[in-house]
Amino acid sequence: MRVAVVGGGAVGLTAAYDLAARDIDVTLFERGEYDAARSDASATPADGSSARAAGVLYDAYAEDIDAEIGGRALERFREFSGDDGFEFRQCPYVMVAREGDEAAADAMATSVERMRVHGREVSVVDPEELGDRFPLRTDDMLAAAVAENAGWTDPASYVSAMAAKARHAGVAFETGRSVGLSVDPPGVVDSGGRRTERRDDGATREFDAVLVATGAQTKRLFAEAGVAVPMKPYRVQALTGREAYDGPMVYDATAGVYFRPHPIGVLAGDGTVPVEANLDEWNRDADDWFVDDIRAALTERADYDLDVAQAWAGLCAATPDGDPLLGELREGVFVAAGWQGHGFMRAPATGEAIAKQILGEDGGIASFDPRRFSGDETFEVREGMALD
Ligand SMILES: Cc1cc2nc3c(=O)[nH]c(=O)nc-3n(C[C@H](O)[C@H](O)[C@H](O)COP(=O)(O)OP(=O)(O)OC[C@H]3O[C@@H](n4cnc5c(N)ncnc54)[C@H](O)[C@@H]3O)c2cc1C
Repeated sequence: MRVAVVGGGAVGLTAAYDLAARDIDVTLFERGEYDAARSDASATPADGSSARAAGVLYDAYAEDIDAEIGGRALERFREFSGDDGFEFRQCPYVMVAREGDEAAADAMATSVERMRVHGREVSVVDPEELGDRFPLRTDDMLAAAVAENAGWTDPASYVSAMAAKARHAGVAFETGRSVGLSVDPPGVVDSGGRRTERRDDGATREFDAVLVATGAQTKRLFAEAGVAVPMKPYRVQALTGREAYDGPMVYDATAGVYFRPHPIGVLAGDGTVPVEANLDEWNRDADDWFVDDIRAALTERADYDLDVAQAWAGLCAATPDGDPLLGELREGVFVAAGWQGHGFMRAPATGEAIAKQILGEDGGIASFDPRRFSGDETFEVREGMALD
C-alpha cells in the first residue's frame, strides 16, 4: 500500500510515522523546509501552526471521545519523552474563574464533573487551598479546579522528534514545495512550484490513500480540488517573558488567558481573533492589545512582571461544531484538521487514529467523521479554550 501524507506538522508526521512503522510505503509532502543545516528532517517548518503552538498538554476533557484521545495522547507524549530531543514536562493545569463570572464557574463545575466520570484526575478546589499550594493570587477567585495529568513541552521538539522517527521508519520526505490534491483518483498534484506557488497543470501522482493534514490550509487545498469543507482559519497569539515563573500552568477563563513555565521564564497566550483570517495576508506578529491583556493578567494572577522576549500569532482552524474533521472524506482521501486550538496536544493520538483508519482498522474516531457535514454550512468562529 502506498500512502501520501500532505502536511508535515505534528499530526501529519505522527500519522506518517505510525503508518511507516507498520511497513506502509509513505511519502510525506511538506511545503516548508526542515532545517537545511541538518541532513535529516529534524526541525519544524516555520509555516505550520505546530511551530507556533504553546505546548500546553492535558487530558481534562468532558466529552467521551475527547477524554479518550486526550488520555492516549498524554500516554504517548510520556512514551516518546527522552527520544530525539523531545521532553514531556509534568506540570498541573489550573483553571480559574474570577468573582462575578458565575457563568465560567458553573461551566467549570459541570465540566469537571464530566471529566471525572471519564476517570480524569481533575478536582474543584477551594481558592484558599489553591493559594497554599501554588504561588498564585486567589483573593479574587470565585472558583478553581486542578487537572493533575498535564504538562508542557516545546512543540518544535515534538515535530523534530517525530520527523526523525518517521525518517528512521522509512518515510520518504519531499519538502520545499507546495503540492495540490487530487480526489479522484487519490493523489497529489506535483507542480514543481516553490512554497506557496502552485500551478494547476502539474502531473497527478496516484496513491492508494492520501491523508490531508495541512492545518489551516486544509479548506483551501480541498477547495482547489473541488471539494467544500466547512472550516475557517483564525488567528491566535502567544508570547514569552524573560522573568522566571515556576508555578503551575494556569487558564484564567475570565481573562481569557493561559500561561505556563518556559525555559526562559513564562509562555502565555490565547488572544483569539474570532474572525476568518485571510490566508494570503495574515499578521504573524502579536497585536498590542494582546500583549497588554497578558501583561495585566500575569500581574493580577501571579504578581509577574512581564518583560516580553517574543510575541507572535499563528493560525488555528474552526469547524461548525468545534470538533475536528478526522476520517475518510472521499474514497481513499482522508483528512485530519480543524482542531479549534487543541491540535497539538492531541496529535500523538489523532495521528495514530487516522493511521489505523487508513489501514482499515477502527480508529475510534467515528464521531469526528468529516462526512457529517455537507461543506456549505455557515457558522461563526468560536473561541477554542472557553469553558462551555
Ligand atoms: C499561538 C498558538 C498557540 C497554540 N497553542 C496550542 C497548545 O498549547 N496546545 C494545542 O493543542 N494546540 C495549540 N495550538 C494549535 C496547534 O498549533 C494546532 O492545532 C496544531 O499544531 C495543528 O497541527 P497540524 O499538524 O494539523 O498542522 P500544522 O502544524 O499547521 O501543519 C500543517 C503543515 O502543512 C503544510 N502545508 C500546508 N499546505 C501545504 C501544501 N499545499 N503542500 C505541502 N505542505 C503544505 C504546512 O507548511 C504545515 O507545516 C496553538 C496554535 C497557535 C497558533
